[in-house]
Amino acid sequence: MSYKFLVVGAGLSGLSNAFFIKQLYPKAKITIIESSNRIGGIIKTRKENQFIFEEGPRSIKLGKYNRPLFYMIDKIGLYPEFVTSIQQPYNYFYWNGALKSVPSQMNLKTISRFIKDNGKDELFNLIKAYPKILFNKIESDNLGEYLDEILGKELTKKYAETVFYGLFGESVYRLSKNMCFQKVYMSSYDEVQLKKDLIYDAEFEQMRKKILNKANSYRFSYGLDSLPKRILRYLQDNTKEKDFEIHLNTRGKEIDIEQKQLIIENENKEIKKIEYDYIFLNVPSSEIVSMIENSNLNHIKDDLKKIKNNSMITRNICWDQKILPSDFRGLGYLINPNQNQNILGMLADSLQFPMQYPKDSTNLTVMTQKDVNDDQILKELSSHLGINVQDPKMIIKNDWIQSFIEFQPGYFEKMQKIEKELENKKIIIGGNHYTMVIPELVYLSYSKMKQLYV
Ligand SMILES: Cc1cc2nc3c(=O)[nH]c(=O)nc-3n(C[C@H](O)[C@H](O)[C@H](O)COP(=O)(O)OP(=O)(O)OC[C@H]3O[C@@H](n4cnc5c(N)ncnc54)[C@H](O)[C@@H]3O)c2cc1C
Repeated sequence: MSYKFLVVGAGLSGLSNAFFIKQLYPKAKITIIESSNRIGGIIKTRKENQFIFEEGPRSIKLGKYNRPLFYMIDKIGLYPEFVTSIQQPYNYFYWNGALKSVPSQMNLKTISRFIKDNGKDELFNLIKAYPKILFNKIESDNLGEYLDEILGKELTKKYAETVFYGLFGESVYRLSKNMCFQKVYMSSYDEVQLKKDLIYDAEFEQMRKKILNKANSYRFSYGLDSLPKRILRYLQDNTKEKDFEIHLNTRGKEIDIEQKQLIIENENKEIKKIEYDYIFLNVPSSEIVSMIENSNLNHIKDDLKKIKNNSMITRNICWDQKILPSDFRGLGYLINPNQNQNILGMLADSLQFPMQYPKDSTNLTVMTQKDVNDDQILKELSSHLGINVQDPKMIIKNDWIQSFIEFQPGYFEKMQKIEKELENKKIIIGGNHYTMVIPELVYLSYSKMKQLYV
């Protein structure tokens, strides 16, 4: 069928939508509208002085939900550029003035280090808590209550608060168990069916098995932004000119739901209307609200307005020399929010992906919520690591304003209702409303398309 598909937002969700539209409806007309002057959205790579700075996401995790993303990487020919991470034995968290280790691999060495850092009783407490994960039947959608039940209040405060605050910038007691933990939104993922629908080429399969076999995460040799760039190139190369358009510096302004038209405005304030059969909104909820502001979907607007987003500041910091203590062997560390530190966490990019940085150099990413100055950050880093960290070669600061959805208890149910009502009006909301994790986000873009396919 030659449907007209309109995709608003050229981040990874929007581009994945466009890619799978192309796969399922080869004759469709696809138009992408992007308000900024570039594609990729949060994915942002900068190359400078032989350093690759991943300013937004820094790696893609290998896990359960890979198939649609791998299929896309296969078709756009990006797999020769896989770069895999070096697995480090520990993760660290900051507690009572020092970094404590938790094993990222279970072996004698990492367990004895855990006992040295945290004490034998702590290990027993965690082991005792573990079976409850399997048998716990708590109904509440409050992640904090759920973890209290499994771990007890003390371990929740120490471990769970550290991890979830680092990931979502919010306390576990304000987060939804279903969204953050049990991933109800992935229940439709059916590997057997996907294997039939999304078949890899033999060459890709060989390369994937060879390169990604033992890794736990990966990047691409020229940066993560190769992913959006190559999806776009694939779409441009494989679609007749009249059937594919992308408008940068153009904002989706208002949807005329009855007429199935989107009003767009470009950088010169010129207004245009674009017709669609289906429109995909891969933009923050506040943008969706403003696009449907003049419609009569009042309760949807109200519900969308209630979605809270959190902000975070990241700093990519690099040095020409090694600065981390020689026994620091982790992905980075997270800081418990009750520890009164400005830093939320640090990620040791150059330990995880040493092949992407000049030899013996160091590249770290530091996350904060408040805007403190660079000196303060370096001072705190020094105190956490127990060394004097100063004179970096470069610091790149990014303010991710309202970029993290706060998945509050009840979020999933509310989102399902909104999603259904909008879908009746041929409006489809994108993956970032359900997950921040890239493979899951691509699967959701795929599954939304697949649902339409008859
Ligand atoms: C700092 C940070 C680190 C992260 N690290 C990781 C990681 O290591 N691994 C991982 O898997 N995930 C990570 N994530 C999450 C992941 O990056 C995001 O979930 C994903 O990139 C979101 O893609 P998206 O397309 O849904 O949204 P976005 O990338 O936000 O794209 C939305 C696009 O829509 C455009 N837009 C907005 N309004 C309009 C409008 N009205 N009209 C037209 N266009 C509009 C924007 O300009 C933007 O380009 C991280 C996120 C952040 C913020």
